[in-house]
Amino acid sequence: MRRTGLFGGTFDPIHYGHLLAAESAREAAKLEEVWFIPTFVPPHKSHPGADSENRRRMLETALADCPGFRVEEIELSRQGVSYTIDTVNALHERYQDRAFYWIVGSDMVKDLPNWRQAEELAEKVTFIGLERPGEPCDEVDLPSYVRRKLLRASMPPIGISSTDIRRRRKEGRSIRFMTPEPVHEWIRRHGLYES
Ligand code: ATP
Repeated sequence: MRRTGLFGGTFDPIHYGHLLAAESAREAAKLEEVWFIPTFVPPHKSHPGADSENRRRMLETALADCPGFRVEEIELSRQGVSYTIDTVNALHERYQDRAFYWIVGSDMVKDLPNWRQAEELAEKVTFIGLERPGEPCDEVDLPSYVRRKLLRASMPPIGISSTDIRRRRKEGRSIRFMTPEPVHEWIRRHGLYES
C-alpha cells in the first residue's frame, strides 16, 4: 500500500506552519506523498478571507517546488459542505492501492470526535496529530477509537496562523517570511485580506 498523507484545511492563506506540519508528518509516518485538500467554502456563508480560486492558486504556488506534495481538488470540485468522511470514501474508491493518513494540528485533534461519522472515519484513516503552540492536547480526553488510530508527530513549534496573517494584512503590517515569497507576492498583487 502506498502511504499517503491527506492534509485538509481552508489554507486562507497557506503558511509555513502548514508546510512544516506536512513535512513533519511525512517524515514521521514515512509517507510517499502528501495531498493538500482545500476545503470549499460555500458562497452563502460569510467568509472574511479569499475565495476558493485564490486559495487554490496560492496552494499551487507554494507547492510548486515541493516534490511529493500536491493539491487535491476533490472538495472544491464537490462544493457544498466538505465532510472529511465523504472525501475519504471517494478517495478510497478512486485509489485502492493507497493507505490514507489524515494530518491535523493539535487544535483539531480535540475536535475529531465531533466530526461527521467519526468512528467510521477512524476505521478508514490513521490520524497524524501535530502539536501547535498554545494548543496542548490531552489524549485521555479522546475516545478510544480515536486514540487507537492517532499517531503523534513532533515539529518545531510554529506560532503562525492564517487568522494572524489576515489580521496583519488588514492592519497594514508585514507578513513577509510567514509564507513562501511567491504566496506573499500573490497576496500583495491581488490585494488580498486588505479589508
Ligand atoms: P485559521 O487561522 O484561518 O483558522 P489555520 O492557520 O488554523 O487557519 P487551517 O487551514 O484552518 O489553518 O488549518 C489546516 C490544518 O493545519 C489544521 O489541521 C491546523 O490545525 C493545521 N495547522 C495550521 N497552522 C498550524 C501550525 N502553525 N502548526 C501546526 N499545525 C497547523
